[in-house]
Amino acid sequence: MARCAFCDADFETGPGDVLLVCPYCGTAQTIEGAKFKNHYMIRVHFAQHEAQAVLLDWLSKQLGVPEDLAAKARFVEYKQVWYPFWVSRVDAHTEYHGLGRDATFHDPWPQYPGAYKRFSYFWKPESGKFIRRYEIKTPGIEDIDEDIKNFPIPTRANEYFSHSHAEEYDGVVLHSKVSEEQAKEFARKKAYENQTALILQEVDKIERRDDNIDVGETFLIHIPVWELTYRYGNSKYRASVSASTGYVIESKYPRSMAFRAMGIVSGLLFLGIGGALIAMANGYLGPQQLMGFGNLTGGILFILGLVLFYKGVSRKEAKEKV
Ligand SMILES: [Zn+2]
Repeated sequence: MARCAFCDADFETGPGDVLLVCPYCGTAQTIEGAKFKNHYMIRVHFAQHEAQAVLLDWLSKQLGVPEDLAAKARFVEYKQVWYPFWVSRVDAHTEYHGLGRDATFHDPWPQYPGAYKRFSYFWKPESGKFIRRYEIKTPGIEDIDEDIKNFPIPTRANEYFSHSHAEEYDGVVLHSKVSEEQAKEFARKKAYENQTALILQEVDKIERRDDNIDVGETFLIHIPVWELTYRYGNSKYRASVSASTGYVIESKYPRSMAFRAMGIVSGLLFLGIGGALIAMANGYLGPQQLMGFGNLTGGILFILGLVLFYKGVSRKEAKEKV
């Protein structure tokens, strides 16, 4: 529990929450009660029924989905969740000295111009600098779904967080378990790693480097996601749809009986052909002419057959990335 330093209301917090958003007045604040001003959001452009329509349309285009899915799917749960992210602007200036590998060539072949009998490697000193500006994103909660974590944030379209806007859809605004200082530290490390990767494209060994990494403006941004659950037949499936762009971040869906049957039949067919090819290649069946070809092709078909067969038999729902 925490008490809002601005409207005095008590509200729920979880373990590790350090940057809180009051669910009553929407003020972002530290656990010590200091107001955090750089708080932005990305606006909702897809209301619940629009997000559901987008999802059904997307589902109906997926391979092997039952034809009546869009007509028969019933939404049973829906929640708008606002996920916290930190975004830091980082200016990085790095000068480096290092060694690159080079080679010299000896003893040219008289009959082949440009070809040599021997060559030897040596280290060549190289130096240079990289000046880069980064915009580094740090998720405010760790156990965030991987698909939501990697979802690109259109940071250019920022506007200040509006409590009434989030309330319009009964949105749940999540607290951040990462403080501003931790986000800045993460951004500094990430920028340093990015610079290291740049240097290592130029030299093989870094002898010394001089970094000037300036973590500038760091702001908190909440992005809205519709967490939907629909029922089809006797099963329920979960989906996440961006409420700002209508992008289907992830969804599970059923496969039709026909699709599964097709998988089983073609799986068995491939298993048969693959097995026969391997047998032929090893002289158990017919002439032993296909040796390498038969083993390789047969092996590939056999594995493909197993995969298709498994997919057909498995009743597990599909989880597709978009
Ligand atoms: Zn409050």
